[in-house]
Amino acid sequence: MKTIDLRSDTVTLPSAAMREYMANANVGDDVYGEDETVNALEARVARMLNKESALLCTSGTQSNLLALLSQCQRGEEYLVGEEYHTYRYEAGGAAVLGGIVPQTVAVQADGTLDLEVLAKKVKPNDPHFPVTRLLALENTHTGKVMPTKFLDAARDFTQHHGLKLHLDGARLFNAHIASGASLETLTDGFDSVSVCFSKGLGAPIGSVLAADRETIAKARRWRKMLGGGMRQAGFVAAAIDYAIDHHIQRLQVDHDNAVLLATKLKAQLVAHGIEQVQVEPAVTNMVYVQFTDPVLAQKTAAHCRQKGIMLSSAARMRLVTHLNVTSAYIDLIVEEFIRGIIGD
Ligand SMILES: *Cc1c(COP(=O)(O)O)cnc(C)c1O
Repeated sequence: MKTIDLRSDTVTLPSAAMREYMANANVGDDVYGEDETVNALEARVARMLNKESALLCTSGTQSNLLALLSQCQRGEEYLVGEEYHTYRYEAGGAAVLGGIVPQTVAVQADGTLDLEVLAKKVKPNDPHFPVTRLLALENTHTGKVMPTKFLDAARDFTQHHGLKLHLDGARLFNAHIASGASLETLTDGFDSVSVCFSKGLGAPIGSVLAADRETIAKARRWRKMLGGGMRQAGFVAAAIDYAIDHHIQRLQVDHDNAVLLATKLKAQLVAHGIEQVQVEPAVTNMVYVQFTDPVLAQKTAAHCRQKGIMLSSAARMRLVTHLNVTSAYIDLIVEEFIRGIIGD
């Protein structure tokens, strides 16, 4: 039986067509700047995000790190949501490697930050304090699309305070498809933008950082220092080209499947009178399920694993739809999920 993996959209496997496209890529030594496929991809992504230049990175973590290292000096700080990936899930790289101080603030229910709270965190010019340099945002955050009104306000905020603005757009394409807002609108006013292709877009590896030429030149040097200078990386760039051509528009299918999953699961929980498990409405390609009993979440995940359905075992369980989860699987997922809960 085929495994259905809902733990993340990073588990997506390259399709036969993508593999073939990769195999036929024209490649060269990218550290020498001689990989045509990489050069063309970087120019393509820069154009898509309306920035001067772009750089292929090994991962989103590397891409975010390069953005911070290239725009903040030692002893300077960046403002960031405490649940954002850049701060919470990247092993403190900016502090460890760049001497950059993170100033966290709470993330609001809609995934945005409170600009009044942020304003109080911007430090005055005084030798006691680190120099506040940059604000980092995340779109989507836990599947939620940042309202464009907030993006406008954040842009004004950083201009007013003379700060740089970075976007962790690991799932920016989901935000684009879900909101209908253009990529240019979603990235307007950001000095740097990181996007991931190894998630819902289905490439095996790769993120891209886009910014002005000077920032990307600095990022290129940092990338080399961190061991991220890849040689015949055109095979990766080709996978990303394929993903851009074929997998952006279809993200709508993932969003529709998430709605289907949330709706059907909720209906079955109600039908079985199960109240200790609550399903939240789907947001882009994610559905969150809250268990009051963490042990029940573990039992449910263990049951589903036996049936070939991979789930996280957290009490606040995240189910992620992606290109290897078709709508035909939804009924089976819901059925086994309920069986897992009632111990059938
Ligand atoms: C996945 C992710 C990243 C980057 O993760 P990598 O695994 O290093 O590619 C960055 N930000 C967010 C919000 C993510 O979900």
